Order: sequence, then structure tokens, then C-alpha cells
Amino acid sequence: MQLSHRVTNITEGSSDGWDIFYKARQMISEGKSVTELTIGEHDTRTDPEILKAMNHAALSGHTGYAVVPGTQSLRETVAARIQKNTGAPTSYRNVLITPGGQSALFAAHIATNEPGDHALFIEPYYATYPGTIRSVGARPIAISTSAKHAFLPRKQDIIAAATGAKSLLINSPNNPTGAIYGSQTLHDIAQICQTHGLWLISDEVYDTQIWAGKHTSPRALPGMLERTLVIGSMSKSHAMTGSRVGWIVGPETAIDHLINLATHTTYGVAGFIQDAAEFALKQGAQLEEKIAAPFRRRRLLAQDILDTQSIVGLMPSQGGMYLMLDIRSTGLTGEEFADSLLDAHQIAVMPGESFGPCAAGHIRVAMTVSDNAFATALRSLVGHAESIKL
Ligand code: PMP
Repeated sequence: MQLSHRVTNITEGSSDGWDIFYKARQMISEGKSVTELTIGEHDTRTDPEILKAMNHAALSGHTGYAVVPGTQSLRETVAARIQKNTGAPTSYRNVLITPGGQSALFAAHIATNEPGDHALFIEPYYATYPGTIRSVGARPIAISTSAKHAFLPRKQDIIAAATGAKSLLINSPNNPTGAIYGSQTLHDIAQICQTHGLWLISDEVYDTQIWAGKHTSPRALPGMLERTLVIGSMSKSHAMTGSRVGWIVGPETAIDHLINLATHTTYGVAGFIQDAAEFALKQGAQLEEKIAAPFRRRRLLAQDILDTQSIVGLMPSQGGMYLMLDIRSTGLTGEEFADSLLDAHQIAVMPGESFGPCAAGHIRVAMTVSDNAFATALRSLVGHAESIKL
């Protein structure tokens, strides 16, 4: 039986850069010991206090259908947090609770793009972006950046793609580069969105992991409240990846339409998960900092290790749980380097090419194993690069 093109074309027949990840998982299933520095999964589990709140909510009976937009109290909690952090007026009516950031990305694109519309995104990108855009029937248009410009988008490149487009997806703090967009970049983006009538979809799932610079939500910039959809998630900020809970924040009218979409797709998020998310958010910045702390530490550890050599370059990382390393001096592509590193040292990293061609010759390292294991893996990685260059 024939399946729809919309679904069979999501990854356009490619593996979307996950080959190394699957190879590493295969090795693990064969009993080999692999240091996995691939996906954005914390090495700590969800805090037991959050699990207690989840358990309590479930045992108290919050296991039936939850209201589709999200519980009033979680929506209010998210709204208050966003208003406090960004200064932008936000009420529960601006918030839809979603099963994670990924489904929020899908909903934001299907709500703003007609089939065939141009949906812009910045390259290098979080691996699912082009597939998410294809899955709603829109056309993904990548705006390329370069290592030379710290992988930040340039105004002229966004303008060149903007005419006739419907939406622009940005991600700061950025996965995979660790860049945080500065105020000039965000003001340029806001101006272009207004001039060209674009929706801005701002993926801010790493907004609690800031190591340098300042995170600004572009929704708070003048003229942006009515055209910005912010994607948020409990996955990274509270180590709740498996709970699948996130949100979209946007204008009330857009949220009303998104609630209608949710009624016909997800039908909401489990009530006991929402109660746990509310409990977690109410613990405030202290818990968020505790969860971010290992990445803050390991970023400094990596700087110390990589400072002592010049073969592997470290892209300046300002936020998030990944480092982008430049391995061009080895003469290998990111894919070749990652593959040989896995074979020689049983260390799995993501090839830069998985995040778009402009990240070729780079690898992305997730800082998601213990400090000791991370330092050992980085030293082996440098040794591997040295042995190739000899
Ligand atoms: N956006 C970015 C940039 C991500 O890195 C991720 C997860 N790795 C997501 C969105 C989706 O996260 P989740 O669905 O777990 O909220």
C-alpha cells in the first residue's frame, strides 16, 4: 500500500545523520563499552522530588484525560516564568502545553505554513528541523552560516531568503553550535520578520543553560509579540526528556488555533506529568542551575584540555549541552572522523554534517557523561586527531 509522500519524504531517504548513533547503539547491544557523546540526554535522571510529585499526582487520580490546552495552573506557571524572565506580558491564554518541544515545533510550523510555503531555518540546525518542516508539507529553506562567523546568521543571508517565506525558525542557545544570538542579530531578525511578514518560531529549549553572554527572547522585542511562537520544554532544563512536556507561547489567537490542532492530534499531555512539571518549575532557578551545573563545569574542563593543543579547534560555546569541535586540520570529514573515532576508541560523537553541510569538518560532542569519562574521552579524541595528522 502506498504511504503519503509527506511522510515518506520526511528525511528524503537519508538517515538524517544518525548512522554513527545507531552504530554506537548496535555496539552497545553487542556488549561493547562505548562512551556516548551523541544525543542531548543528561547523565543524571529526573530529580526524585519531581518524581515524587508525579507519583503523588498519579495516585491522587490525575490519570484521566487532562484538559487539552494544559492545566490552568501549569499554563499560569509557564506564563509567569516567561513574563518574569523576559518582561513580555504573558498570561495563561498565551500558553499551550505540548508533549515536548518536538511536537511544539511541528504544531508551530503546521499552524503557520500552507503546503508548499517556504519555512526558513538556520544551518547548522537541530537534526529534526528540515524533516519537521517537510512533515507539515512546507518547503525547508536553510540559511547557511559559516565557522568563520561563529555560525551566526548574517542579515543579508536572511533577507535573501525572506521574500515570500512564511516563517523563520531560530534556536538560541544553539544546538549544535553553542552560540547565543546577540542583541544586534536578534534586532536584525525582528526587523526582517516585520518587513517581510514572517512568523518567528523561536526555539528556546536551552534557555537555562547560559555560560557566557545573555539570552534574550526575541518575543520581547518591539513589534514581535504578535508574530512570535516560542518553543519551550522541560526536557533540558529539568532533565525530564522522557516525560514529554513542553509548550508553545504566542499570541492568544494563535494559541486558540493551536488548541484546536491539539484537540485533533495529541489531545493534550498526561495530567500527572503536567503536575510534576508545575512542581519542578515552582522550585525556581536553583533547581535549574543544579541541572545545568555539570555542563557548565565540563565546558570549562574541555577548554582546559583543548587549550593545550592546536589540532582540534573549539568553537566558542556560550550555552547548551554540546561543544562544536573543528577537526578540519586532520583532513577528514566530520563523518570520517566520527566513524574512525568510534572504531578506534569506542567514542561516539555526531558528525557536523548531520547538522547541515556548512558544519562539515566539525563534530558535535555532547557533554553528557561524568566529568572523568568526559575528560578521558576528550584526551583520546585529541590523541586520535594527532595520530591522523601524523
Ligand atoms: N529543540 C532543540 C534545539 C533540541 O535540541 C531538542 C532536543 N534535543 C528539541 C527541540 C526537542 O526536545 P523535546 O522534544 O525533548 O522537548
